[in-house]
Amino acid sequence: MEKGYTLMHEHITIDLSGVKKDLDCRLDCFEETKAELCSLYQLGVRRILDVTNMGMGRNPKYVSRMEKATGIRILQSTGFYKEPFLPDFVYSMSEMELAELAEKELTEGIGDSGIKARVIGEFGTSKNIMTDMEKKVFHSMALAAVRTGAVVTTHTTLGTMALEQAEYLKQAGVKPEKIIIGHLDLSQDPDYILSVLKEGVNIGFDTVGKNNYCPDQFRAETLKRIAKEGFLGQVVLSMDITRKTHLKEWGGLGYTYLFETFLPMLRDYGLSEEQIDMLLINNPDRILK
Ligand SMILES: [Zn+2]
Repeated sequence: MEKGYTLMHEHITIDLSGVKKDLDCRLDCFEETKAELCSLYQLGVRRILDVTNMGMGRNPKYVSRMEKATGIRILQSTGFYKEPFLPDFVYSMSEMELAELAEKELTEGIGDSGIKARVIGEFGTSKNIMTDMEKKVFHSMALAAVRTGAVVTTHTTLGTMALEQAEYLKQAGVKPEKIIIGHLDLSQDPDYILSVLKEGVNIGFDTVGKNNYCPDQFRAETLKRIAKEGFLGQVVLSMDITRKTHLKEWGGLGYTYLFETFLPMLRDYGLSEEQIDMLLINNPDRILK
């Protein structure tokens, strides 16, 4: 693969509009997304991890068309999100059956699309709790990860339950270097974030630009501290764009914000080019190899 930046937690297309009762949560605007991805290519992005999975309006052929239209490699996902977004069959099938379904998508392909999933994610927990059904998903996805060696990437709700997720997956036999615990920036608690890093897992600062949830100054300041404590090799970046109004066309920041606004902020906080490359090139390459 050509050397370049990787965004580790995005949704090229997603539809949570049914549960959320908000049409903004249906991101299905091919041309507008394509235009933004073409700008990303110009900025050096060569790969995106798309973590939309079953129950989130996944559309492998749409993503594959986007890949061809933009030249950016887009890795797709298998798995289930969290309550209340789990498909009905998750409630009725056994853990082993769910694990086998994920394994089939990783090794043979998603449905009859002929497109293989590359990672397991984003599966996750609710705020301050892992529900019984989320435990079932965690157990089955860990099984699939152990059987295939695939990377797992999780969703935490506002950074809560991150330690529990890391411990659970490690205990189930998933290698820490293949685990990415998501949305840790939203915890807004540097000490907690460091305690998760000490588990040996990777974490996502993957909601860059969502200043209403967490100001980017916090992200920059905390990345500086993580670097000082020697854990920057376990952090990846992304924006988690999920709504039409996140795109420029509808007045949002758009994907290029990470490169045009956030990276200059990191430089202002004293992060070096080498450290920025670590976050966007070396760490993703190592995790996904
Ligand atoms: Zn998420």
